[in-house]
Amino acid sequence: MTSRTPLMAGNWKMNLNHQEAVVLVQKLAWTLADKKHDYGQVEVVVLPPFTDLRSVQTLVDGDRLLVKYGAQDVSVHESGAYTGEVSAGMLAKLGCSYAVVGHSERRAYHAESDELVNAKAKAALAAGITPVVCVGEGLEVRQSGEHVAYTLAQLDGSLAGFSAEQVAGLVVAYEPVWAIGTGEVATPDDAQEVCAAIRGRVREVHGDEAADALRILYGGSVKAANVAGIMDRDDVDGALVGGASLQADEFGGICRFY
Ligand code: PEP
Repeated sequence: MTSRTPLMAGNWKMNLNHQEAVVLVQKLAWTLADKKHDYGQVEVVVLPPFTDLRSVQTLVDGDRLLVKYGAQDVSVHESGAYTGEVSAGMLAKLGCSYAVVGHSERRAYHAESDELVNAKAKAALAAGITPVVCVGEGLEVRQSGEHVAYTLAQLDGSLAGFSAEQVAGLVVAYEPVWAIGTGEVATPDDAQEVCAAIRGRVREVHGDEAADALRILYGGSVKAANVAGIMDRDDVDGALVGGASLQADEFGGICRFY
């Protein structure tokens, strides 16, 4: 079990309009409150589509909910002629605490490189938003046995040029692509192996303080029924949750893993 504050982040992907978003966050807050969830023990974050953020902000502020929220992506640009982009400054103004960068779906469908992910993470940090930097191998790489080297190469590229202090404040999500949305969750040993390697690389490059502070999430078919085993491992500090985060009871159960 981690000594860092556990973080449970729900990636809604392209699901739920702004009204459905309000209903889900309300239900989630009720679920957590109902079960006497101690918000001090676990940080709970929702990551809705951009169009929902204003409504989520209004609800969270109005009801003084302790649920945090963030975005699923962010532009590298500050402002200007970049049609369709949303800047980190705009997200910060809406009260976003986090922005996911380099999710495997963006790497796959939008050809996002480590360089772009790195620039997005820097843009988020510059606006005071914590990037959740996603890395992780596909099935072929896993089967070849090169998953640790592959993931560390992605990590190196995505964190290039960061100071030890910046890395200490980051969140890295290890998400093996073969486990995302497939129902095939990595074993706790699989998750621990790569999360430990990520922390080891950060220790090597940035020192003990950064390595000990960095939070590393596992993502890939996490559910209330399988989260405890994964969270039991030393280097897993939380979960990035897709499908299961769309149901308040299920995500609430994940947040109450302990
Ligand atoms: C994700 O989208 O980051 C994810 C982990 O999805 P799922 O939990 O549905 O596998």
